[in-house]
Amino acid sequence: MAIPLGRPSTPPKPWLTDNYRRYLESDEWRAVRSGALERARHRCARCGSTDDLHVHHVSYTRLGYERPDDLTVLCAACHELEHRRRDRERLDARRLDGWASKRWGENWASYVDIERASVEFEDWLERRGD
Ligand SMILES: [Zn+2]
Ligand SMILES: [Zn+2]
Repeated sequence: MAIPLGRPSTPPKPWLTDNYRRYLESDEWRAVRSGALERARHRCARCGSTDDLHVHHVSYTRLGYERPDDLTVLCAACHELEHRRRDRERLDARRLDGWASKRWGENWASYVDIERASVEFEDWLERRGD
């Protein structure tokens, strides 16, 4: 189980905010999108499919001025899987936060090493057979 570093602080679904939706209808995005598709030679980065391609944000931090690495081309099926994986990771991060808060207090992240907390949390999950 991979736990992203840092506490979960971003909104749970940034790709569904109004600004983001508006951005996806803009000419800027259309240009960025077709650039990404061309770089990927119109193939899914996962499975190589050429059907129903989506341009997926690996990172939302440079929304509106994406670098090539911030985007990847995925077919509809791989895209859906990728978002499910992301949701799961976020859920894991929230569970870690809840567990660690109970153990070390609300501000645990400022004095407990996140790697150590993750390892202990995973040990704990394994012991209870989750
Ligand atoms: Zn996506
Ligand atoms: Zn695919």
